[in-house]
Amino acid sequence: MSLLFLSIDFEDFSHDLGRDLGLWKTRPLRLEALTRAYEAIERFLQAHGGARATFFCTGIIAEQTPGLIARIAAEGHEIACHYHFHDHIDEETPEAFGANLLTALKALRAASGQSVTGFRAPKFRIPQTSPAHYNILAQYVDYDSSFLAAHPHQAKAFAASLATPLKLLPVYAARPAALSPKMRLGGTYMKLFPRAATTRLIASSEAAGLPPHIYLHPYEFLSDGSFTLSRKELAPLGPAKAAYWRVRQAQWHTVGNRSLPQKLSHFAQHHGLGGRLDQNLQTLAF
Ligand SMILES: [Zn+2]
Repeated sequence: MSLLFLSIDFEDFSHDLGRDLGLWKTRPLRLEALTRAYEAIERFLQAHGGARATFFCTGIIAEQTPGLIARIAAEGHEIACHYHFHDHIDEETPEAFGANLLTALKALRAASGQSVTGFRAPKFRIPQTSPAHYNILAQYVDYDSSFLAAHPHQAKAFAASLATPLKLLPVYAARPAALSPKMRLGGTYMKLFPRAATTRLIASSEAAGLPPHIYLHPYEFLSDGSFTLSRKELAPLGPAKAAYWRVRQAQWHTVGNRSLPQKLSHFAQHHGLGGRLDQNLQTLAF
């Protein structure tokens, strides 16, 4: 049985959703909620042997709240990059991508005092049909974890096609049964489906030759709606859209949140935790 790896996409969901919906370009982050979520993650890790983890952080967090990034780094975790804003890289030119990437990396390096060698695109959205964005990425980091794969050969073939030294650390995504939806080893799927679904997904990931690796978010460790946008904040969208986003937010922030730590605890005990991604590239990356 393989060790289980955890990585966190460390982002302020409320800030990023508002930006996605055109409510603001940026605004003050919810530092108190981010700190509480980090502390819940740290408590979870300490309760399961104290393994360290990788935090893919948005640059805006490092820019606005460098102290929190410094603390996560000082407590032994890997600070990796989740882009500057939580934007769709596949809608940006390679030039804009390079500039935003550099802004994020500078802020993350300054705040953490660490070298930052890993990257994951927000929502896994980075163009994979042309190598331009990856060529830029390869200039600044050692590995990318934005590639969804059901089998290592897919990651190997894609890494080879890039002709750069960049390593690919894939996230497992597959259909557990012929008619079921495609599932990823991520917090959202883990929350919404029973534990047995994750058990099957981990087993098929291992059978394919990919050590189990689950990605999670700060909002999955709090069950009090700390990262939801209020009625007032959503009001400029108009009543219909605002109502829609209130329901969608409940899906992300409430449904299944209380059961997530329990489910995760089961897998952490069963497998043991594997630690930071950057220290395990030999097992995890291609
Ligand atoms: Zn994200």
